[in-house]
Amino acid sequence: MHLNLKNDTTIDCHLQPIYMSFNSLGLSQALLKAISKKGYTTPSPIQEKAIPPILEGYDVLASAQTGTGKTAGFTLPLLHVLSENPKEKFRPIRALILIPTRELAAQVYANVKEYSEFLDLRSAVIFGGVNQKPQAATIRQGIDVLVATPGRLLDLQNQGLLSLKRVEILVLDEADRMLDMGFLRDIERIIKMMPTKRQNLMFSATFSHDIKKLAQGILREPVMVEATPENSTVDAINQKIYRVSKGKKSGLAIKLISDGNWKQVLMFTRTKHGANKLCKNLVSANISSAAIHGNKSQAARTKALAGFKSGDVRVLVATDIAARGLDIPLLPHVINFEIPNIPEDYVHRIGRTGRAGASGEAISLVSADETSYLKDIEKLLGFRIESDIMEGFEPDPNASTEPEKRQQRQGRNSSKNHTNSRSSGGNNSRRRQNNKRRG
Ligand code: AMP
Repeated sequence: MHLNLKNDTTIDCHLQPIYMSFNSLGLSQALLKAISKKGYTTPSPIQEKAIPPILEGYDVLASAQTGTGKTAGFTLPLLHVLSENPKEKFRPIRALILIPTRELAAQVYANVKEYSEFLDLRSAVIFGGVNQKPQAATIRQGIDVLVATPGRLLDLQNQGLLSLKRVEILVLDEADRMLDMGFLRDIERIIKMMPTKRQNLMFSATFSHDIKKLAQGILREPVMVEATPENSTVDAINQKIYRVSKGKKSGLAIKLISDGNWKQVLMFTRTKHGANKLCKNLVSANISSAAIHGNKSQAARTKALAGFKSGDVRVLVATDIAARGLDIPLLPHVINFEIPNIPEDYVHRIGRTGRAGASGEAISLVSADETSYLKDIEKLLGFRIESDIMEGFEPDPNASTEPEKRQQRQGRNSSKNHTNSRSSGGNNSRRRQNNKRRG
């Protein structure tokens, strides 16, 4: 069958059957035991659809975001395939899982470990920001599965500390985010280090033109699977907007969290500086909070996430990149302190709530300068989000509706001497560069 990915790219693919229980998916007893230990009873839709074709050896192109169970969707069949094939005394890396961020890499690795508990397979994770020596030592002992961020993988490869010459299965997880973060060249370099004959699995939340191009270059006659129709998960989430003046956002957030007695809130800011500032304001109001973003050390990020999961930290303030892929199940509240200038990021953000069938609430605090961003988001969603004003936190009727970045640029242009001023919103190319450094 030919599948037309939004008009301009045709990919040869096959239809796949639908199964209803883990037992009927064809996974080994050892894997079923691990699944049962995790407490999963039925496969999620993406697992039902992705596992059988992967077991059959097909390349797979999957549309799925975090929260759909996609990690098990590729990890379980990957482990099955590896455990069926004979092992050698020295274990070469036979499966590579490429991941855009450190946090997600650590989570995927944790899943690989759990699912392979009853199998004779070894795995390791490598990412930047931490000492490479223990990572290199683990690889030297021989591993079957490597979970890696692109930057650290290339570092170790360049030093001759690992080889990808025996890779049989490649997984590109969150491929769209990988491109957003400027990893295209790295991915191309990594692919050249692997044998051409291998199975390729690509997971992406969105399918931009660039993603389709990447898929065409890597995948061979892939089976196309989709977790849910695009953006349909959004419908299940209770979304609301408060129109508010910029200077009153902190106060409104504190009121919402305190009045609602919310215990676990994920808040998004557009910038790292904004995340730090908001965190300070919340702490001053006796709301325990921690910020998680690219300027924080790996240790600080891990500590913040652990505190949030355990309940010690009531509010986790994050930037989009840092929050991407965080596995925090059953999150009841998401607040967009600032709405994102990339509409798809809004969908990713609110996808953090209402997961696994639980109800969730996503509230956005929108000031006048964010009006055009909101329009773009509503255009993507296809509907207007319910909007309200809280007494005491009204919007400023005189504030400009120009986006902040544009306002600053205009200010800069009108002042010839002011050449060093920086936009607090950042732009995509700078974001790419910054993100890449984090990898
Ligand atoms: P993921 O989309 O891979 O980040 O998974 C989201 C969450 O769903 C994780 O906490 C998984 O442990 C959980 N999960 C994955 N598969 C299942 C399943 N079949 N049943 C219940 N929970 C699952």
